[in-house]
Amino acid sequence: MSLKIQTFNPLSSYNKAINKLKLNGIRPTKQRMILAKILFENGKRHVSADSLFEEVRKEDRKISLATIYNTLKQFTNIGLLREIVVDQNKSLYCTNKESHYHLYIEDEDKVVDIPTKNVNLDIPQIPACLKLHNIDVIVRIRTLKELKDI
Ligand SMILES: [Zn+2]
Repeated sequence: MSLKIQTFNPLSSYNKAINKLKLNGIRPTKQRMILAKILFENGKRHVSADSLFEEVRKEDRKISLATIYNTLKQFTNIGLLREIVVDQNKSLYCTNKESHYHLYIEDEDKVVDIPTKNVNLDIPQIPACLKLHNIDVIVRIRTLKELKDI
């Protein structure tokens, strides 16, 4: 029998996320901690509120879909997640903090990260009184099979 001993690692993505919540005055409730663990201890990925809800259920936890939506918005507001608005009724949330763009495969409802260096943008000059805050790029594609049906 092996005993798994988990040591406290302040630099784990989960602990950094909890720290960021505290720094922003958001109390790390049990539900927020469960969601942070599921979101940030599984590498870089993209989730929807529905897929996160499923993951919570699989772990035998109960968190309402409304709480999941609210928590995803909160985590996005403090920079823990990036929201990818794929259409007006659906957002996906990205845990990858590095600068990147997104490729959205519409008929598979799947998002893939693209390095920013792979996309050449010709940004218009920004007036001196303004500053560039962020650039979001979503390249929308469909599989060839889907195109043949049209
Ligand atoms: Zn991403």
